[in-house]
Amino acid sequence: MEREKNQILYLVIPCYNEQEVLPETSRRLKEKMESLMDRNMISRDSKIMFVNDGSKDRTWEMIEELHDQDPLYQGVKLSRNRGHQNALLGGLMTAKEYADMVISLDADLQDDIDVIDQFVEKYYEGCDIVYGVRSARTTDTFFKRFTAEGFYKIINLMGGEVVFNHADYRLMSKRALNELANYKEVNLFLRGIVPMIGFKTDVVTYERHERLAGESKYPLKKMLALAVDGITSLSIKPIRFIVFLGFMIFMCSILMLIYSLVQHFLGNTSIGWTSLIVSIWAIGGLQLLAIGVIGEYIGKIYLETKERPRYIIEKVLR
Ligand code: UDP
Ligand code: MG
Repeated sequence: MEREKNQILYLVIPCYNEQEVLPETSRRLKEKMESLMDRNMISRDSKIMFVNDGSKDRTWEMIEELHDQDPLYQGVKLSRNRGHQNALLGGLMTAKEYADMVISLDADLQDDIDVIDQFVEKYYEGCDIVYGVRSARTTDTFFKRFTAEGFYKIINLMGGEVVFNHADYRLMSKRALNELANYKEVNLFLRGIVPMIGFKTDVVTYERHERLAGESKYPLKKMLALAVDGITSLSIKPIRFIVFLGFMIFMCSILMLIYSLVQHFLGNTSIGWTSLIVSIWAIGGLQLLAIGVIGEYIGKIYLETKERPRYIIEKVLR
């Protein structure tokens, strides 16, 4: 299915304390949008939409200034900091009202914006979702590469379906976004949910650059939280694993029982201080771990049942 050309594209960019990169980012994105418009690839009604995720610096003031200078720039102001995933969702849900297709990207332009052309072409070829995939991670630290790779592997092992080396740089059609709106979970992990939507999808590869300026807004603590949330929101395999482990230990305990009885009738009853201590610690530790995993899921249920809003929009600049 080929689509008609010249449709409306929105770029959605979550921003948290990005005053150092905004001037350069806005300039480069405008250039890109104008070149796409000049080649009649996108409509002149296309926009660049910055989502201010409760920044503490001048980010929002800068977005307002940009909007005053040129209505190509639009702004969504969240009422406070809600984190990258929620800010992105807020932007996507706002943009889908006006756009035919939306591309989400980071404010630091680590994702190569020259592949936007390919995103748009794939959309016209009939794709509803196009994933940006990093071909090389040379600009990431060894630690980030190592943890990221482990993360994707664990998720896939747990039965979650994520696109390898794809972050949140992707194109979605209006139709796909309307479907995304039906996923009401509070604990949102877009990378895991978007593949569930289906439709015709494709992949575009690109090289990841260094951050333009400023520091990463994803310290280790946030990365770990995202990883745990990602896994637990996609899969209940950790709980099944506990059941499996419990079963194995139960089988072992039957063997131990037989062994102990035999020793008892042979009169060797005083052996076993070491094995006692070891089993107390091993079983105790395992039980705590199991309770922890189950607790994590109960916590998720607790948070989900409250159905609190994922973001609150204070203001939209259109
Ligand atoms: N971000 C956000 N809210 C947050 C943290 C980050 O909107 O609480 C945005 C940030 O401004 C950037 C994107 O999420 O546009 C990705 O963050 P960053 O580049 O710092 O992450 P990294 O590339 O280091 O993983
Ligand atoms: Mg970045």
